[in-house]
Amino acid sequence: MDLAGPLVQGFAAVITPHLWWLIPLLLVVIVMRFPMLGRGPNSSRRDPWRGFKFAARTAVMDRAGRRCEAGALLAWGRCGDPAVEVDHVIPWSRGGPTVVSNGQALCKAHNRSKGSWVPPWWYILGLERRRRGYVPAGSGVRVLAVMNDDERAARERWAQQRTARP
Ligand SMILES: [Zn+2]
Repeated sequence: MDLAGPLVQGFAAVITPHLWWLIPLLLVVIVMRFPMLGRGPNSSRRDPWRGFKFAARTAVMDRAGRRCEAGALLAWGRCGDPAVEVDHVIPWSRGGPTVVSNGQALCKAHNRSKGSWVPPWWYILGLERRRRGYVPAGSGVRVLAVMNDDERAARERWAQQRTARP
């Protein structure tokens, strides 16, 4: 108990001369980790469909020209290696739904390194900026981790069929 005062004072004495760079550094870290607002998910409830299959997988792969969409050169360039996996931009485990607007095609190495990382705003903006250069006409570039009405209805039909089965 008697030690607490001197310890705090000692800590403050060590830290204070460094505040001029510690505070800006802390602010940069906070800003760089900030998520992209307004793109969902609007709940942490997990989509009953875990992986990208069938039409959703094909749509994401085709939009990317079957090439990796990850960034290179500090998110400016594009990896472009052959894509092997469709990844959730906002991870499935964090409420990101298994929908085309939340999917990206990745190569083996980028899929492994992404894991369940929730990407910050600059990652999303970088992906959308790169996409403008390669997606086919008519395909959207926008990342949106929210189900539309059709996607929600597909889950409901699927759940009903499952319960109806003997
Ligand atoms: Zn890659």
